[in-house]
Amino acid sequence: MEELEKYAKENKIPIMQKDGILYLTNYIKENNIKNILEIGSAIGYSAIMMARLDKNIKVTTIEKDKDRYNIAVDNINKYHLNDQINIIYGDATEINTTDTFDLIFIDASKGKNTFFFNKFKDNLNKNGTIITDNLSFHGLVEDESLIKTKNQRGIVRKIKDYIAFLDDHKEFITTYIPVGDTIAISKRRNENE
Ligand code: SAH
Ligand code: MG
Repeated sequence: MEELEKYAKENKIPIMQKDGILYLTNYIKENNIKNILEIGSAIGYSAIMMARLDKNIKVTTIEKDKDRYNIAVDNINKYHLNDQINIIYGDATEINTTDTFDLIFIDASKGKNTFFFNKFKDNLNKNGTIITDNLSFHGLVEDESLIKTKNQRGIVRKIKDYIAFLDDHKEFITTYIPVGDTIAISKRRNENE
Protein backbone atom coordinates (compact mmCIF):
# COMPACT_ATOMS: atom_id res chain seq x y z
CA MET A 1 0.00 0.00 0.00
CA GLU A 2 2.97 2.32 0.46
CA GLU A 3 3.36 2.35 -3.28
CA LEU A 4 -0.21 3.61 -3.70
CA GLU A 5 0.31 6.23 -1.00
CA LYS A 6 3.47 7.42 -2.74
CA TYR A 7 1.76 7.54 -6.14
CA ALA A 8 -1.13 9.55 -4.68
CA LYS A 9 1.21 12.02 -3.05
CA GLU A 10 3.31 12.54 -6.18
CA ASN A 11 0.27 12.95 -8.38
CA LYS A 12 -1.74 15.04 -5.91
CA ILE A 13 -4.58 12.53 -5.67
CA PRO A 14 -6.54 13.22 -2.48
CA ILE A 15 -6.73 9.74 -0.95
CA MET A 16 -7.73 9.40 2.69
CA GLN A 17 -5.13 10.39 5.22
CA LYS A 18 -3.57 7.74 7.47
CA ASP A 19 -5.55 8.39 10.66
CA GLY A 20 -8.77 8.80 8.65
CA ILE A 21 -8.42 5.44 6.89
CA LEU A 22 -7.43 3.83 10.20
CA TYR A 23 -10.58 5.15 11.86
CA LEU A 24 -12.71 4.03 8.90
CA THR A 25 -11.29 0.50 8.80
CA ASN A 26 -11.67 0.11 12.58
CA TYR A 27 -15.27 1.27 12.31
CA ILE A 28 -15.89 -1.37 9.63
CA LYS A 29 -14.39 -4.11 11.81
CA GLU A 30 -16.14 -3.08 15.02
CA ASN A 31 -19.53 -2.80 13.36
CA ASN A 32 -19.17 -5.98 11.33
CA ILE A 33 -19.81 -4.12 8.08
CA LYS A 34 -19.88 -6.32 5.00
CA ASN A 35 -21.45 -4.38 2.13
CA ILE A 36 -20.04 -1.01 1.23
CA LEU A 37 -20.87 1.60 -1.41
CA GLU A 38 -18.13 4.15 -2.04
CA ILE A 39 -18.64 7.33 -4.05
CA GLY A 40 -15.23 8.42 -5.39
CA SER A 41 -12.71 5.60 -5.89
CA ALA A 42 -9.79 7.71 -7.15
CA ILE A 43 -7.00 5.10 -7.60
CA GLY A 44 -8.72 2.49 -5.44
CA TYR A 45 -6.76 3.09 -2.25
CA SER A 46 -9.62 3.27 0.27
CA ALA A 47 -11.62 0.54 -1.52
CA ILE A 48 -8.61 -1.80 -1.31
CA MET A 49 -7.98 -0.89 2.35
CA MET A 50 -11.59 -1.70 3.20
CA ALA A 51 -11.85 -4.90 1.12
CA ARG A 52 -8.68 -6.47 2.44
CA LEU A 53 -9.98 -6.38 6.04
CA ASP A 54 -12.09 -9.47 5.47
CA LYS A 55 -12.83 -11.88 2.61
CA ASN A 56 -16.57 -11.40 3.11
CA ILE A 57 -16.48 -7.64 2.60
CA LYS A 58 -17.87 -6.44 -0.72
CA VAL A 59 -17.19 -2.93 -2.01
CA THR A 60 -19.02 -1.23 -4.86
CA THR A 61 -17.12 1.91 -5.82
CA ILE A 62 -17.85 4.60 -8.42
CA GLU A 63 -15.31 6.83 -10.18
CA LYS A 64 -16.03 9.36 -12.91
CA ASP A 65 -12.49 10.16 -14.01
CA LYS A 66 -11.40 7.69 -16.71
CA ASP A 67 -7.67 7.82 -15.96
CA ARG A 68 -8.15 7.31 -12.24
CA TYR A 69 -10.68 4.56 -12.90
CA ASN A 70 -8.14 2.73 -15.10
CA ILE A 71 -5.44 3.02 -12.45
CA ALA A 72 -7.89 1.79 -9.80
CA VAL A 73 -8.75 -1.25 -11.94
CA ASP A 74 -5.04 -2.10 -12.24
CA ASN A 75 -4.52 -1.69 -8.51
CA ILE A 76 -7.53 -3.84 -7.63
CA ASN A 77 -6.19 -6.55 -9.93
CA LYS A 78 -2.74 -6.24 -8.40
CA TYR A 79 -4.18 -6.95 -4.96
CA HIS A 80 -6.37 -9.80 -6.32
CA LEU A 81 -9.50 -8.15 -5.05
CA ASN A 82 -11.62 -8.26 -8.23
CA ASP A 83 -14.09 -10.65 -6.64
CA GLN A 84 -14.61 -8.31 -3.69
CA ILE A 85 -14.50 -4.90 -5.37
CA ASN A 86 -16.94 -3.94 -8.08
CA ILE A 87 -15.68 -0.71 -9.61
CA ILE A 88 -18.04 1.26 -11.83
CA TYR A 89 -16.89 3.90 -14.28
CA GLY A 90 -19.33 6.79 -14.33
CA ASP A 91 -20.77 9.83 -12.66
CA ALA A 92 -22.38 8.74 -9.39
CA THR A 93 -25.12 11.35 -9.80
CA GLU A 94 -26.35 9.26 -12.74
CA ILE A 95 -25.80 5.77 -11.41
CA ASN A 96 -28.65 3.90 -9.77
CA THR A 97 -28.59 0.70 -7.82
CA THR A 98 -31.19 -1.37 -5.99
CA ASP A 99 -28.51 -3.05 -3.85
CA THR A 100 -28.43 -2.32 -0.14
CA PHE A 101 -25.36 -1.53 1.94
CA ASP A 102 -24.24 -1.47 5.58
CA LEU A 103 -22.04 1.53 4.83
CA ILE A 104 -22.15 4.31 2.26
CA PHE A 105 -18.87 6.21 2.11
CA ILE A 106 -19.15 9.57 0.36
CA ASP A 107 -15.74 10.85 -0.75
CA ALA A 108 -16.32 12.69 -4.04
CA SER A 109 -16.91 16.37 -4.88
CA LYS A 110 -17.58 18.39 -1.74
CA GLY A 111 -20.46 20.31 -3.31
CA LYS A 112 -22.43 17.14 -4.04
CA ASN A 113 -22.52 15.63 -0.54
CA THR A 114 -26.16 16.52 0.14
CA PHE A 115 -27.16 15.22 -3.26
CA PHE A 116 -25.40 11.88 -2.71
CA PHE A 117 -26.75 11.55 0.82
CA ASN A 118 -30.33 11.99 -0.44
CA LYS A 119 -29.80 9.85 -3.51
CA PHE A 120 -28.33 6.83 -1.75
CA LYS A 121 -29.83 6.89 1.78
CA ASP A 122 -32.58 4.49 0.72
CA ASN A 123 -29.90 1.97 -0.28
CA LEU A 124 -28.85 1.77 3.35
CA ASN A 125 -29.65 -1.26 5.51
CA LYS A 126 -31.70 -0.66 8.64
CA ASN A 127 -28.74 -0.14 10.97
CA GLY A 128 -26.49 1.24 8.27
CA THR A 129 -24.11 4.20 8.39
CA ILE A 130 -23.30 7.00 5.99
CA ILE A 131 -19.75 8.31 6.38
CA THR A 132 -18.67 11.48 4.60
CA ASP A 133 -15.06 12.59 4.25
CA ASN A 134 -13.55 16.11 4.11
CA LEU A 135 -15.76 18.12 6.45
CA SER A 136 -12.87 20.35 7.45
CA PHE A 137 -11.22 21.29 4.13
CA HIS A 138 -7.79 21.53 5.74
CA GLY A 139 -9.13 23.61 8.62
CA LEU A 140 -10.72 26.31 6.46
CA VAL A 141 -14.22 25.37 7.62
CA GLU A 142 -13.29 25.97 11.27
CA ASP A 143 -11.13 29.04 10.62
CA GLU A 144 -12.36 31.14 7.72
CA SER A 145 -9.45 33.57 8.13
CA LEU A 146 -7.37 30.89 6.36
CA ILE A 147 -9.44 31.25 3.18
CA LYS A 148 -7.37 32.77 0.37
CA THR A 149 -9.39 32.37 -2.82
CA LYS A 150 -12.94 32.75 -4.04
CA ASN A 151 -12.93 29.09 -5.00
CA GLN A 152 -12.01 28.08 -1.46
CA ARG A 153 -14.77 30.29 -0.07
CA GLY A 154 -17.29 28.54 -2.30
CA ILE A 155 -16.17 25.12 -1.12
CA VAL A 156 -16.28 26.17 2.55
CA ARG A 157 -19.82 27.47 2.06
CA LYS A 158 -20.88 24.15 0.51
CA ILE A 159 -19.37 22.16 3.36
CA LYS A 160 -21.10 24.41 5.90
CA ASP A 161 -24.41 23.91 4.08
CA TYR A 162 -23.87 20.15 4.26
CA ILE A 163 -23.09 20.31 7.99
CA ALA A 164 -26.30 22.31 8.53
CA PHE A 165 -28.21 19.73 6.47
CA LEU A 166 -26.82 16.90 8.62
CA ASP A 167 -27.42 18.74 11.90
CA ASP A 168 -31.05 19.45 10.97
CA HIS A 169 -31.77 15.97 9.67
CA LYS A 170 -34.87 14.38 11.17
CA GLU A 171 -34.01 10.81 10.27
CA PHE A 172 -30.24 10.72 10.89
CA ILE A 173 -28.00 11.72 13.76
CA THR A 174 -24.44 12.77 12.92
CA THR A 175 -21.21 12.91 14.87
CA TYR A 176 -18.02 14.50 13.58
CA ILE A 177 -14.68 12.80 14.10
CA PRO A 178 -11.59 15.00 13.81
CA VAL A 179 -9.41 12.45 12.01
CA GLY A 180 -7.80 13.10 8.63
CA ASP A 181 -9.77 15.95 7.06
CA THR A 182 -12.65 15.28 9.52
CA ILE A 183 -15.30 12.70 8.80
CA ALA A 184 -19.02 12.69 9.56
CA ILE A 185 -20.70 9.53 10.85
CA SER A 186 -24.45 9.56 10.22
CA LYS A 187 -26.74 6.89 11.68
CA ARG A 188 -30.52 6.53 11.57
CA ARG A 189 -32.14 7.75 14.77
CA ASN A 190 -34.01 5.18 16.83
CA GLU A 191 -37.71 5.28 16.10
CA ASN A 192 -38.53 6.18 19.71
CA GLU A 193 -35.86 8.87 20.00
N1 SAH B 1 -11.84 7.46 -1.71
C1 SAH B 1 -10.55 7.68 -2.33
C2 SAH B 1 -10.31 9.13 -2.67
C3 SAH B 1 -11.35 9.76 -3.54
S1 SAH B 1 -10.86 11.35 -4.16
C4 SAH B 1 -9.46 7.22 -1.37
O1 SAH B 1 -9.47 7.65 -0.20
O2 SAH B 1 -8.61 6.42 -1.77
C5 SAH B 1 -12.37 11.85 -4.87
C6 SAH B 1 -12.69 11.18 -6.20
O3 SAH B 1 -14.07 11.37 -6.46
C7 SAH B 1 -11.95 11.77 -7.39
O4 SAH B 1 -11.16 10.79 -8.00
C8 SAH B 1 -13.05 12.27 -8.32
O5 SAH B 1 -12.77 12.05 -9.68
C9 SAH B 1 -14.24 11.45 -7.86
N2 SAH B 1 -15.54 12.05 -8.13
C10 SAH B 1 -15.90 13.34 -7.95
N3 SAH B 1 -17.18 13.52 -8.29
C11 SAH B 1 -17.65 12.30 -8.68
C12 SAH B 1 -18.91 11.84 -9.18
N4 SAH B 1 -19.94 12.68 -9.34
N5 SAH B 1 -19.05 10.53 -9.50
C13 SAH B 1 -18.00 9.68 -9.35
N6 SAH B 1 -16.79 10.07 -8.90
C14 SAH B 1 -16.61 11.36 -8.58
MG1 MG C 1 -11.55 12.55 0.89
